[in-house]
Amino acid sequence: MDVTHPPGALPSATGEFLHDFLLAPARHNPDSPAVVESGRPGTTTVTTYAHLRSRVALYARELDALELEIGSRVLLEAEVTADSIALLLACSRAGLTFVPVSPETPRERLLSLIGTARPALHLQAQDGKREDLPPGFATARFGAGGIVGERRPAPAPRRRRTPTVTDPAYIIFTSGTTGRPKGVVMSHRAVVAFYRGMLAHDIARPGDRIASTSPLQFDFSLLNIGLALGSGAAVVPVPQALVRWPRHFLRVLRDTEATQVNGVPSIWRQVLRHEPERLADLDHLRGVLFCGEEFPLPELRRLQQLRPGTRIVNCYGATESMACSFEDVPDPLPEDVERLSIGVAHPGAEMLLVDESGRVVDHPGTPGEIHLRSPALFSGYWDDPEATRTALVPDPLCPQSGQLVLRTGDLAVQGEKGEFYFCGRTDSQVQINGNRVELGEVERRLMEFPGATAAAALPLPEPGGGSRLAAFVVMAARDSRPTAGDLREFCARTLPAYMVPREIRLLDTLPTTTNGKVDRAALAASAASEPAPAPTAATAPVPGER
Ligand code: ADP
Repeated sequence: MDVTHPPGALPSATGEFLHDFLLAPARHNPDSPAVVESGRPGTTTVTTYAHLRSRVALYARELDALELEIGSRVLLEAEVTADSIALLLACSRAGLTFVPVSPETPRERLLSLIGTARPALHLQAQDGKREDLPPGFATARFGAGGIVGERRPAPAPRRRRTPTVTDPAYIIFTSGTTGRPKGVVMSHRAVVAFYRGMLAHDIARPGDRIASTSPLQFDFSLLNIGLALGSGAAVVPVPQALVRWPRHFLRVLRDTEATQVNGVPSIWRQVLRHEPERLADLDHLRGVLFCGEEFPLPELRRLQQLRPGTRIVNCYGATESMACSFEDVPDPLPEDVERLSIGVAHPGAEMLLVDESGRVVDHPGTPGEIHLRSPALFSGYWDDPEATRTALVPDPLCPQSGQLVLRTGDLAVQGEKGEFYFCGRTDSQVQINGNRVELGEVERRLMEFPGATAAAALPLPEPGGGSRLAAFVVMAARDSRPTAGDLREFCARTLPAYMVPREIRLLDTLPTTTNGKVDRAALAASAASEPAPAPTAATAPVPGER
């Protein structure tokens, strides 16, 4: 617990807040690197734990001077950098809830998020490009010199003086079926409980350098920051613009002497295809952790061939509990393995399978929905009690206890030793290159296009591995049909790049099954039999897509 509060700052109650937990190594290893950033080729910038700690103290003082109410939301529009890490820890220290958003968020989506989260403050880096924010909250920029206010908050009485560990530490907005992003609220208590469970797996040590390839607005980046700082190791933020370019990506790993790389499986695809020798030559790399979706096995085997002895960890879980399990991939993966184990829940938590009638499944090989019993569960969806009631349900082991568990929507089976194997979803949530997408949200947006009468979105397998998002749209009038480019551009106004369908086809009608539902299998089959048009502006990835 940090007791050196500057004059005027809020006293933090005793307990484990996010910043207390992650800055603890600063006391023992003040001169060790906490963040290592790559600059021009061959150069790096190192922020030590002592530096990080004093940057956190500076930012916390400046946030505190704004006299925002405890629990106020702060939109943090930034990439992962030493400064943004310091800022989120400062929010924790000042009793403010940070809401990370990507600088690439389309304006309309940001406005909808502002309407939902009602932030008291918007913060962006000094060189941030966001302009014309609506009135109603303060705006400021942050950098090496501190926080520079642009628009002051309206003075308001502060009712609370003391944060508690049950206060929200952050809210992560993810895709929602209702067409409105869904805010996953995590308390300090939950996130620290998760970090403790994760750190028991001994994945990182002091001296390690953990490359984080995930954007700040996904909780995977917070997992990486927690894994690195919680282990006394360093975070290596890989700029988003470089993750997509194999040679630049590997250059960052080499320059920063990264010992571990954390990311969704798709970050490896282009590297394996175009830069296998450079990957094999990385001297410092000893570990890879992936999360977000299954790693296509041919690519995983190739990675193991190129990096024998590298520890590869399959991390399974959802934003609602940051993650849930960490399972080492056997090295090498036996030829007969067709599905990776996701292991069992981290210490202190337990996964259970529940069948459609609500009974706990206890036979190996019988599928059920994963329910997670854990001290690291989210508090609920921001301002959405109905969705919260669907996800946080009575403990199937002992409903009388009043204890709630997370109903994940993930289907799995258990093996003979109790290990779990992920085998799909119960709903229409999909992962596109590790990004969580509610197909319903994409379909809703397409239906907002003037004249659209029906829309279906679905993932289609990519020939080289992974999947792409495709959509099928029916228009009322045949003579005024938009182009696929018009529809994509319309989607890109409100949806993040990874939710914009790569390919959109216009149909006269959507095929239906005998019970009248959209026949998604038939759509997928028709797309497979008629090759996609050559990549043009209408089908090429949009900037920001992984
Ligand atoms: P995260 O940020 O932890 O990837 P998301 O909330 O974006 O979590 O997505 C969670 C969903 O992604 C899970 O419910 C599951 O369907 C899928 N998923 C996550 N990790 C894995 C994994 N290792 N293997 C298979 N599916 C996974």
